Amino acid sequence: MMPACQNRAFALGKAAMSATLVPLGVDTPLPATSPCQACGACCETDASWPRFSLEHEDDLALIPLALVKADGSGMACEGHRCKALSGKVGEMTACTIYGLRPDVCRACLPGDDACNIARTKHGMVAL
Ligand code: SF4
Ligand code: SF4
Repeated sequence: MMPACQNRAFALGKAAMSATLVPLGVDTPLPATSPCQACGACCETDASWPRFSLEHEDDLALIPLALVKADGSGMACEGHRCKALSGKVGEMTACTIYGLRPDVCRACLPGDDACNIARTKHGMVAL
């Protein structure tokens, strides 16, 4: 399964909720009505998902090493949960590297197949 989230702008919206949530890059914020604001399911569904693909080396170099897999292939995870995810899935979440998130994270839209697989896994209704 390859859940993804293009609309991870919820990270910006939640950046102020904790001093540790400081997006490293700039991106277009989501509307406050986005379901991603209180979801984050696709960030905690499959450790193989937040992998790197065509990202620029300079951007990847800005991601804290502690959040990157030892082999450099993608984001490090704890279980199924990406280490860059902050907050509680289904309540309030944030991507702490929002502006630098991998392409795969940007590729998904709320309500697409991957999104709904992830949401269902976490007991949330499909969109
Ligand atoms: S699972 Fe869907 S709604 Fe939830 S964060 Fe990912 S794309 Fe957004
Ligand atoms: S990098 Fe950010 S958007 Fe991508 S899976 Fe991790 S927390 Fe989610």
